[in-house]
Amino acid sequence: MKFGGTSVEDAAAVERVLAIVQAGLARHPVVVVSAMARVTDVLLAAAARAGQDDPIGALADLEPVLARYSDAARRLLPPAEGTRYQATVTSARAELAADLARVARDPAAPDAVAAQGERLCAALVAAALPARGVPAREIDARRCIRTDTRHGKAEPLIPETDVATRAALEPLIATGSVPVLGGYIGATPEGVTTTLGRGGSDYSASLIGAALGASEIQIWTDVSGVLTADPKVAPAARTIPKLSFAEASELAYFGARVLHPKTILPAIRHGIPVRILNSRAPEDEGTRVAAESEVVPHTVKAIAFKSGVSIVSVTSTRMLGAYGFLRALFEVFERHRTVVDLVATSEVSVSLSVDDTSTLPAILRDLAALGEPTVETGRAIICVVGEGMRGTPGIAARIFATIRDINVSLISLGASRINITFVVEESRAAEAVRRLHAALFEMALEPVS
Ligand code: ADP
Ligand code: ASP
Ligand code: MG
Repeated sequence: MKFGGTSVEDAAAVERVLAIVQAGLARHPVVVVSAMARVTDVLLAAAARAGQDDPIGALADLEPVLARYSDAARRLLPPAEGTRYQATVTSARAELAADLARVARDPAAPDAVAAQGERLCAALVAAALPARGVPAREIDARRCIRTDTRHGKAEPLIPETDVATRAALEPLIATGSVPVLGGYIGATPEGVTTTLGRGGSDYSASLIGAALGASEIQIWTDVSGVLTADPKVAPAARTIPKLSFAEASELAYFGARVLHPKTILPAIRHGIPVRILNSRAPEDEGTRVAAESEVVPHTVKAIAFKSGVSIVSVTSTRMLGAYGFLRALFEVFERHRTVVDLVATSEVSVSLSVDDTSTLPAILRDLAALGEPTVETGRAIICVVGEGMRGTPGIAARIFATIRDINVSLISLGASRINITFVVEESRAAEAVRRLHAALFEMALEPVS
């Protein structure tokens, strides 16, 4: 059971979590928590400030964060646990001071700073459960999630994580106790703290669920499952009861923030269903993601979008009738460890989308050896997903007719044929999603004229 930031944002939210865990006790849950809402942003901003030579000011910026945890503890914990928790906050402050002081010379330090948000939350929830009759123990997630050393976006070492997670959690579960861990964080084999990238607590939960052979991975958040679109953009969006692993992967990858893109991978590997549930409305059915899906013929399931995308194009007549060109092109992206999302090619040009712009200057320099590179920034990817789209004529026509006045570049009809993905200007993305949602979900389907 993974609880996201808004699900643990204050004492009242944590109370709801305690009740949900208590209700699920018979299934032997393991609890994974995020930092309280918005805390990771503040911790990372403090690490940045410390890096600009102001560790003292950076620590002062964190006092309101520490106060949020202390305050929630005062409301939730019995006196003895409360006193112990305040000591935990005091030692977190001391660790933060030391970690902030070394940010400028240690690239690993920001992860140690960021990790405190999840660590304090796990300690809080573990301390609060016993008073509700739930035996629980905090387990340091850094003992379980083993990763490589890419700080800020570390990759888990799966076999090591599996072994360490089982060793740390199985004996505890066998005694009927509920392990409580922080998501998002891990450690290298040498024990140096790492993080899995923003939104990574979902991934922690699925890694742990996979290691333990869980019967289900539950992602508890602030909406009732995966919806037909982000409800903040399309208020009429509604819950999708069932998604296939493939549909959920495409949606998560192309911007449905409700699921971290990598969450589905361990679940697929072990065939474990993933449920997305609402901690404010625990009785709602939410969404079930599993191998099989409900193929609703002639319809799409959801629309996702992702801003902050750039399109890189290379034009070269050397491609004409030549082989090896695409390999050389992709090698440039590989060399700079930059992920490419969408690709479109013609005889004389290739366009690709990337969302990491930090490596673009170096990439453009290298691409100049292959042809004429150009870059368009400030774009958004829109992705329309549904197994039922496979072989249903007319959906692409409906989509592009709906947004006929919005300029579209780079269209990809996914190889899996369960998605149509394309690029628009960032400033028009939300409007495009709203209009597509209205056309695809809020009106009776009529043929496009
Ligand atoms: P948590 O802190 O629980 O991990 P997130 O903020 O990461 O929660 O993800 C939940 C949010 O994802 C929702 O509040 C919603 O605005 C956004 N979201 C984007 N696309 C979708 C979608 N298709 N369905 C549901 N929520 C979505
Ligand atoms: N707290 C982390 C973040 O804000 C991880 C998570 O919430 O999933 O990115
Ligand atoms: Mg999240």
